[in-house]
This record gives sequence, structure tokens and C-alpha cells, in this order.
Amino acid sequence: MTKMAYNFTLSYSTLSTFKECQRQTYFYKVVKLSPEKSITAYGNAGDVPHKMFEKHYQDYKDNKISIGELRIIFNELWSSYKLDTTNKDPFFRLLPKEVYWDCVKVGLSKNINVKTMEYKYYLNDIYGFPFIGYVDVIGNASEKDNTEEELKIINKNKNLYSDELVYDWKTNTTPPMENGEYTQKKQLINYSYLSYKKTGKLPRKCYLIYLKKDLIVEYFPTLEDINKFDIELKQITQEINSKKSFKDWIPSSTRAKDNYSKGVCFFCKYKNACKKADEQKITLDQIVDLEADYMLKTQHPEAYKIWSQIEQNKSLIKNDSLHLNTVNQNAAFYYLTLDEMLQIEAEKML
Ligand code: SF4
Repeated sequence: MTKMAYNFTLSYSTLSTFKECQRQTYFYKVVKLSPEKSITAYGNAGDVPHKMFEKHYQDYKDNKISIGELRIIFNELWSSYKLDTTNKDPFFRLLPKEVYWDCVKVGLSKNINVKTMEYKYYLNDIYGFPFIGYVDVIGNASEKDNTEEELKIINKNKNLYSDELVYDWKTNTTPPMENGEYTQKKQLINYSYLSYKKTGKLPRKCYLIYLKKDLIVEYFPTLEDINKFDIELKQITQEINSKKSFKDWIPSSTRAKDNYSKGVCFFCKYKNACKKADEQKITLDQIVDLEADYMLKTQHPEAYKIWSQIEQNKSLIKNDSLHLNTVNQNAAFYYLTLDEMLQIEAEKML
């Protein structure tokens, strides 16, 4: 059996997806399957306030745009995403535009002392993987941002803390909680980790701003959390590297049998591919063997020829609505039954 070499880019969202559904990570990151059509309304609507903050804080740095001008741009952007016509929620309802406009007003009311918007962190080697992160806002810190207790820690560790704050805007309604803790805090630890690895310094404070609720979740970074996060990253990357074939990428435990629209599957862009994989009439062992065989073939100069044969024989592919391209060679085998694969092999012999 050949061992798959994984070198895809990690991010906070890749890690979260991997924890929720490894199979989804396989589709998205390993075989780079083209995403299926899915509900885009929430993502697009959430993007609108983010773009408004960029306009307000970045494009009009010294002479900030007026609220009236911002509203005009907001309306244009909302319409460009078709959020007032066809871009609807899963129940075919339009999203409440004014709620998202209120999000803009709440965000602006925070009067953030912005240093940089949309800052990109890139680390090229975290346990063998590139690691990327985008921070919505980096702000300038002042004494009032920290409690007395935190200031004592900062003053004791002068070289450890920068003079920066980190902010992330959120347009989801309810901050997820577990055991009385906001689980999204992990995202702030992730940003602090990126900052520490890149600059050797931790931000003075990190914030999640829940715009719909006007709720702020705060986090004061510590080295202890960074070290714990690093251990977790090491474990996850080891787990990823231990995977040898499709069957090792475990589907979500929250998936109800024959239901790909619950829990984490709700927003998944690979429902059809997932269903296809589950519907295969061949056993997992057969898939593993064929995959190993195929992986070997992809190393071979004939690999592209084999793929062309599959491409020419699209009728063999069960669901033509799925977009397949040459990058998806490996995934293609999951759309074929054993008989179909054997038929292709037989045709090659002719
Ligand atoms: S449909 Fe559900 S189980 Fe299947 S890949 Fe997507 S999230 Fe995972």
C-alpha cells in the first residue's frame, strides 16, 4: 500500500472541519473535489458587514465614509449577492436585510482603533503543513484594554506581549458554548498562536464581536494555551498523516443514517459525493485495494491516459451532474462500481 503524502494548507477552519468530519476534509483538501451547489445566503450576507467595515476603516482611512454613503454601498452589495431576490435560506426565505444593517451599526459603534484590516498570517511549516490565518482586524492596544490582573502579567513579561489587539466579527446569532465556555475562543487562541509563531509575541487581547447580539467574547492570550494548542496541532497532523486511504477518513458522527442534511452535514458541499461513497456496492476492502492500485498508477506516466479513458466514458459515471476534472482523478473511482472499474480495466487490455 502506498502512503499518501499530504501537503495541503491548514487553517482554523480546516482543523474544525477535520474534527467534525474527516471525510469532508478528504473531499475538500485531499482530492480537491469541486464543491456542490449549496446554500450561500448566510455566507454572502455575513460577508456584507465585513465589506462595510473594510470600506469604513480602510478605503476611507483619514476621511471616513459617512453612514449614508455606507448604506448605499450596503444596498448595492446586498443586491449584487441577489440576497433580495433569489439567494434564500434553506426554507426559501429571504434573509432579513435590516438585521445585517444593524450588524454594521453595532460594529461601527465599537470605535476600534484600527491598525490593519484583513491581516494574513502564513507559516510555511507547522509539523510539515503550511498554516494560514486571516484576522479581521488588528487594533492598537491601550492600557484600558486589559484588567489590572492582565496588566501585571504583561508587565512581568514585557517581551512576550505586543501592543496589538485582535478582533473577529461574527454574524452568526448564537455563540456556541460547551461546559460554560465559548468554544469559538479556540479561534482566538489560534490567532494568538499564529502571532506568536510569526513574531514571538502574543496579542495583548483578542475579541470576538457577535454583531447580531452585540456581545463581545474576550480572551487574554497565555503561553500555556499556546503550548496546549501546539500539542493539539501535533496530534492532528500526526493523525492526518496516519491516513492511508479513503476509508480512514471518518465521516461525521452526527450524520443520521441516509440523512445528509443534519448537523455538520447541513452546510456540507460534498453531500452527493458522500452519498455516492456510501452507496458503493463494493466493500471497503475492495475500495482500499483499488485505491492503492490507483495511487500507484498515478505515479505512472500512463496515469493521464487512464484518466482520459474515464473522461471519454462519462456514461460510466453515475452522476453526471457532479463536476469532475483531472484534479479529481482519485475521487472518480468512488463514483464507479467495481464492475465499472473492471470494465475500464478490461477495455485497456483490448
Ligand atoms: S455529508 Fe456529512 S458525513 Fe458526508 S462528508 Fe459531508 S459532513 Fe461529512
